[in-house]
Amino acid sequence: SVPVTLHALAKTYPGGVEAVRPLDMEFAAGRTTALVGPSGCGKSTVLRLIAGLEVPSGGSAAIDGAPPSETTRRGDLALAFQDPSLLPWRTVRQNIELVLGLAGRPLRRREIDDLIRLVGLEGFGDTRPAALSGGMRQRAAIARALATAPRLLLLDEPFGAVDALTRQQLAQDLPALWEARNTTTLLVTHSVAEAVTLSDRVIVFSPRPAHVVADIAIDLPRP
Ligand code: ADP
Ligand code: ADP
Repeated sequence: SVPVTLHALAKTYPGGVEAVRPLDMEFAAGRTTALVGPSGCGKSTVLRLIAGLEVPSGGSAAIDGAPPSETTRRGDLALAFQDPSLLPWRTVRQNIELVLGLAGRPLRRREIDDLIRLVGLEGFGDTRPAALSGGMRQRAAIARALATAPRLLLLDEPFGAVDALTRQQLAQDLPALWEARNTTTLLVTHSVAEAVTLSDRVIVFSPRPAHVVADIAIDLPRP
């Protein structure tokens, strides 16, 4: 697992929308932090800056002391965003195999089956995304993000379309998995309940431009 450090990280989009005020923050290795705040306050932007998908207009994000591009290149970072962006012409299993292949990791059928079961998609491994519901596609994207056992996991509203029952199951299973793997996880969500259940720490952002209004340690006993 890896720590993430933000040094005066800031983002103003072309056109002048100031999404993130210079932000200094440290996310400890192996912990799960939830970012919550009103819609449009800049949460996704923070995550995309950390992922290296967006160029900061000031400051920097460092993953284990290195720029995001390094981590991405090593295959240590995985993302699951609101839009599951699965390859439509590949089955759930093939979508997972693809990221494993890209990361140069072994394609162990048993482990892939375990992940598919973890997200409640048992029996759908050979189904293409078009034949799945939106929530099932999101779950497939979560399985894909977990497949490489990334050291840093970035989740942006990954459960938005997931049904309540499965979400409850995931909320039970995921923290244990992250702890076992020592994954550093950052979770953007608008659900305070989800944030508290899944995380060790909840950061509350103000309306745009995002600055921190509360930084709360969560100490929830886990089964
Ligand atoms: P959140 O994830 O908290 O809902 P975002 O980070 O998605 O917020 O967006 C923060 C602000 O930046 C919003 O006002 C949004 O409209 C704006 N924004 C997001 N992406 C872009 C972009 N690519 N270009 C211009 N403005 C953007
Ligand atoms: P593989 O090499 O694993 O067999 P391909 O990349 O050749 O997979 O694609 C398999 C099928 O998906 C082909 O029928 C191809 O036309 C289709 N395909 C490939 N790329 C795209 C794309 N960007 N969008 C939609 N369909 C695609």
